[in-house]
Amino acid sequence: METLYITHPACRLHEMGQWHPECPARLDAINDQLLASGLLDFLREVQAPQAQRADLLRVHTAQYLDYLQAHAPAQGYFELDPDTLLNAHTLEAAQVAAGAGLAAVDAIMQGQAATAFCAVRPPGHHARPGQAMGFCIYNNIAVAVAYALDKYALQRVAVIDFDVHHGNGTEEMFAGDERVLMCSFFQHPFYPGSGAPPAAPNMLNIPVQAYTGGDMLRQIVSDVWLPRLEAFRPEFVFISAGFDAHREDDMGQLSMSDADYAWITEQVVALADVTAQGRVASFLEGGYNLSALGRSAAAHVRALAKL
Ligand SMILES: [Zn+2]
Repeated sequence: METLYITHPACRLHEMGQWHPECPARLDAINDQLLASGLLDFLREVQAPQAQRADLLRVHTAQYLDYLQAHAPAQGYFELDPDTLLNAHTLEAAQVAAGAGLAAVDAIMQGQAATAFCAVRPPGHHARPGQAMGFCIYNNIAVAVAYALDKYALQRVAVIDFDVHHGNGTEEMFAGDERVLMCSFFQHPFYPGSGAPPAAPNMLNIPVQAYTGGDMLRQIVSDVWLPRLEAFRPEFVFISAGFDAHREDDMGQLSMSDADYAWITEQVVALADVTAQGRVASFLEGGYNLSALGRSAAAHVRALAKL
């Protein structure tokens, strides 16, 4: 069974200024590593479709979607918050970034692929129902989770989030929804300040101090995440794959290595093999040191594809 590599040229057209770390070169860094490592030969590249308004409305408010449409600039930037800007191409990019997850869910649920990596930007996990935040416009993973629950009537879906930042938007959208178990670790106290305590019992949030190393993070996965996931028996596993917890990434102060990303992914894939018929869809979130991002994402994709 194949692993899909889902992306779109429009994701490179969204940019927020020369100074901004969430830049188009991030996707090039990942593609370059997949190419240089030979992994690309084993993936099926798919162009992401556009998410429709009805897909976005499962997790976002109509007012928010209208607000974005009304403020999309023909040129230059519109500032949603000091770190999150619209350019002329942002909404097209965000629409295919969210659409990538829909294509992943359909292909995996229909048995055309086992796993998928969505190499998309803008990222998603900070986006709230009615507010852009932290470089995120639409909550890509949440749009896909809601679609999987709705269209395929899944009863149990897991969300894994190993970005250095807490996925506040995803938590807000699924807190108290017993069909979803979200497992995350994140640097705390740190941006965006949420997550400790969790918003509901279905949020397995593990806040960790700055400078926590990969060994400790692996132990959290083994001792805390996996027992809960094994008991929950998800039918589909979604991953918010942020690579900004890497020790070379100065956006955060955690100390993950390329090998730690591979190891965590292997654990999640093994769990999915037991409970979820191997169904895993992963979404690019953070990761701003381009070298570390490319290497870590390649290690992650290699584990997703079992290569
Ligand atoms: Zn992040």
